Amino acid sequence: MIAISNITKSFGRHQVLKGIDLSVSTGEVVAILGPSGSGKTTLLRCLNYLERPDNGSIAIGDFAVDCKRAGKKDILRLRRKSAMVFQQYNLFKHKTALENVMEGLLVVQKQPKEEAKARSIALLSKVGLGSKLDAYPSELSGGQQQRVGIARALALNPEVILFDEPTSALDPELVGEVLAVIRSIAKEGITMIIVTHEMGFAQDVASHVVFMDGGVIVEQGKPSELFRAPKEERTKQFLNRIR
Ligand code: ATP
Repeated sequence: MIAISNITKSFGRHQVLKGIDLSVSTGEVVAILGPSGSGKTTLLRCLNYLERPDNGSIAIGDFAVDCKRAGKKDILRLRRKSAMVFQQYNLFKHKTALENVMEGLLVVQKQPKEEAKARSIALLSKVGLGSKLDAYPSELSGGQQQRVGIARALALNPEVILFDEPTSALDPELVGEVLAVIRSIAKEGITMIIVTHEMGFAQDVASHVVFMDGGVIVEQGKPSELFRAPKEERTKQFLNRIR
């Protein structure tokens, strides 16, 4: 269970998040939609403390922080409960696919090398990259690099995986393979929050859809409700524009 309460975040005078409340149950797949600049990525980054929220609280599983008071230890503990998949993959360029996945297990979780290696090989095989263990990012397509990013996130066994527009840097023909991997993970019951512009995917895979605009959650609900019969004018306009 994830509970976000009254999160605010400003950059200088620009308040980007204006009081976000959101609950996510275990095993749920939440898609966050909204126009450019509405604060989707900032919200995701706040959950992982890549940005420090100004106010509010975040609880993941059994651990909660009051964002105003959180100290270094609290932040580390919260951060370890989630893993992020980035738009630009963010792989280590001088490390192979296998080394990229192993890194967090060795450095963060202090796992023995052989254990970390076995787990990483299993996860890379799971995302269809069992034959690319020794390839460097420059030798992989964008879709393959993103699948390494997903294996790396899974390796940490997080309570939630945060996906920040995982397919928006990809050539159109590579989007499908990455969405297929995310879809198969979703079926395993891993809690996920996905910022995406892929409406068909959100409609298909998400159990809950959140529409953000101007730093607030305008509307949220089941995909069948929100896509077919949005209640708010701003949601209707957004969906009409992108359909
Ligand atoms: P997109 O769909 O285009 O990625 P988004 O909904 O994810 O948009 P954010 O990336 O969260 O939006 O950005 C929201 C606003 O916050 C934008 O106006 C952006 O310029 C601003 N912003 C984000 N990060 C920073 C930062 N580090 N410093 C200053 N302004 C920022």
